[in-house]
Amino acid sequence: MIDRAREFDDADPLAKYRDRFDLPTDVIYLDGNSLGALPRATLARLEQVIRGEWGGGLIRSWNDADWIGAARRVGGKIAPMIGAQLHEVVACDSTSVNLFKLIAAALEMRPGRKVVLSEPGNFPTDLYMIAGLERQGLGKRKLASRESIVGALDNDVALLLLTHVHYKSGDIHDMVALTKAAHDAGALVLWDLSHSCGALPVDLNAAGADFAVGCGYKYLNGGPGAPAFAFAAERHHNTMHQPLTGWFGHNAPFDFSDDYEPAAGIDRLQCGTSPILGLAALEVGVELISEIGIDRLYAKSQALSEFFLAGLADCGLDLEGVGPSNSDERGSQLSFRHPEAYAICQALIARGVIGDFRDPDILRLGFAPAYLRFVDVAEAIRHLVEVFANEEWMRPEFQTRNAVT
Ligand SMILES: *Cc1c(COP(=O)(O)O)cnc(C)c1O
Repeated sequence: MIDRAREFDDADPLAKYRDRFDLPTDVIYLDGNSLGALPRATLARLEQVIRGEWGGGLIRSWNDADWIGAARRVGGKIAPMIGAQLHEVVACDSTSVNLFKLIAAALEMRPGRKVVLSEPGNFPTDLYMIAGLERQGLGKRKLASRESIVGALDNDVALLLLTHVHYKSGDIHDMVALTKAAHDAGALVLWDLSHSCGALPVDLNAAGADFAVGCGYKYLNGGPGAPAFAFAAERHHNTMHQPLTGWFGHNAPFDFSDDYEPAAGIDRLQCGTSPILGLAALEVGVELISEIGIDRLYAKSQALSEFFLAGLADCGLDLEGVGPSNSDERGSQLSFRHPEAYAICQALIARGVIGDFRDPDILRLGFAPAYLRFVDVAEAIRHLVEVFANEEWMRPEFQTRNAVT
């Protein structure tokens, strides 16, 4: 298997990009879907921003280094990856906060309708943000299983909120069909692209999507807690109103007026001062991922996960897969169900193979194509086979739960 992996690596047009990331040599990183790796250029860029722009430029850098334009500039670099126009995306806040803003905005745009429809098992923060708004008297949460979402789109639904690629199973929703079904029912749609953006092609405008959010620290490699992004279709720019009306969403923040007047366009989704250091790191990750190109990344991620599945079969390791077996129908990850998934994950981590565990019994392995090699996949399989051969998960130290999994 290792020989075949070497052949694939030799033929891989993306192989050269691995060196653009600063990865530990003793680790096989199968968790780029949870925290993307560190691009080498990030260190130099942050040093320049900290020493030069902050230390030297001080407050002048708002203009001289275009700090003031950073949220829009980085948003504009994300836009082509998700089928948005440059002025439809802004990089700001966390995904959770952007969900809050856009759910509230959508509810106001559909007076007379209360329901925010989502699915059970959606990423927790999406469900919690709907519930939090409901507590404030805004909207009402309703959950419908995948198969029954279309049927649940009645004339009480103001907004359909779904995660495009499911964080656990990797299942991809049909964005075009569901957006159309929601619109036909008079509802708006908000897509969470946290597991899509930077991993597979997304075309929000081709689907007619209204709103979207996504994460900066996963496939965009923006670093822990990187700013997220928010998309709003141009047609909504002057009619949407979000509740976090901070001064950076104001039409003229530096007029210091007593009265709030929303900015024209996407800027009204901003709230407070941008985290410039976080945006600088995110910008490096976004530039690198767009340089490599989403289509090539997606093709390689499919090849990697197929290589993994074929390798498992060759070794006779019969793991219960969760989610689609066809790589066209899943994101850049594979998930397996096992009663000892937690301890298996710990045993792999002890061997330097870093994947993650999702409650209650899912072992999730991400194939971030920008830096993962086929030899890494082959080695991961070898470790997995050894873990199973020795039932290594039985060791007490692998059974103890950590706070962060
Ligand atoms: C990772 C992730 C988030 C992250 O939310 P933050 O508020 O940025 O931490 C949100 N939604 C989904 C689907 C995710 O996978």
